[in-house]
Amino acid sequence: MHELSGKAAIITGASRGIGAATAATLSNLGVNVVLAARSESTIRHNAEILRDNGGQAEAVTCDVSNYKDVQALISHCESSFGRLDILINNAGVIEPIGHLATSNPDTWAHAADINFKGVYFGMRAALPAMMTQQSGVIINVGSGAAYSPLEGWSHYCASKAAAAMLTRCADKEAAASGIRVIGISPGTVATEMQVLIKASGINPVSQMDYSDHIEPELPARAIAWLCTSEAAEYAGKEVSLRDEAFQKQAGL
Ligand code: NAP
Repeated sequence: MHELSGKAAIITGASRGIGAATAATLSNLGVNVVLAARSESTIRHNAEILRDNGGQAEAVTCDVSNYKDVQALISHCESSFGRLDILINNAGVIEPIGHLATSNPDTWAHAADINFKGVYFGMRAALPAMMTQQSGVIINVGSGAAYSPLEGWSHYCASKAAAAMLTRCADKEAAASGIRVIGISPGTVATEMQVLIKASGINPVSQMDYSDHIEPELPARAIAWLCTSEAAEYAGKEVSLRDEAFQKQAGL
């Protein structure tokens, strides 16, 4: 992972869970990181901890469903660190959990704006700079729900499926410019998202014990490895962290 040292990365959804763990993992590897999320004080605090540990870390308040916010996020990284090498599109929401027939069209659509359009906005804003420098890595944090319909999760399954297709489309257009776009499905992870899922009581995922989920540090390490040139074969694909061959390859 030495090749990552000195690179500049943006991590969305870095206030907690997988995003916060990924920001810490990358920072420990010498990557200059920009932490983005809506909770301003939390990302400021997280960035401060990384700086205290000797890293270079910035915090930018950003709602990924707002394109202007995302553009400002990319600009902040470029002005702070002089470039943008890595974008981790990790921000995501599981709410509102419920049946499609009784769903609230506004909150349903807002979840899709975050989980799907947020990924598009990130790539749309980052790709021109990466294309100019003829290099870059974009990791889109997906979900097995993209491939398996689940009761109460129509917004989540559909938006993750759409984002997975964006990974494949972006790879077609960006690979020739030296940019790798990769998706990762992390399995079930012990984060606030799983607390909300358990509380809903809907579908088999909510019946799992919290202790059955993996710690966010594991997907964070997988994401860091995917940012290296060793993972080039995964460009345009969505890899599952449940895949044992992948775990071995990534040194997990
Ligand atoms: P989490 O603990 O709930 O964290 C979600 C993160 O996304 C938070 O930092 C949140 O920050 C941020 N976020 C939500 N809406 C946002 C918005 N509009 N703009 C910017 N940031 C936003 O969940 P997690 O488990 O770490 O999830 C991270 C990713 O992994 C998600 O894409 C999720 O779908 C995926 N995933 C998780 C699991 C799992 O079992 N946990 C399984 C498969 C896939 P703010 O609220 O401060 O904005």
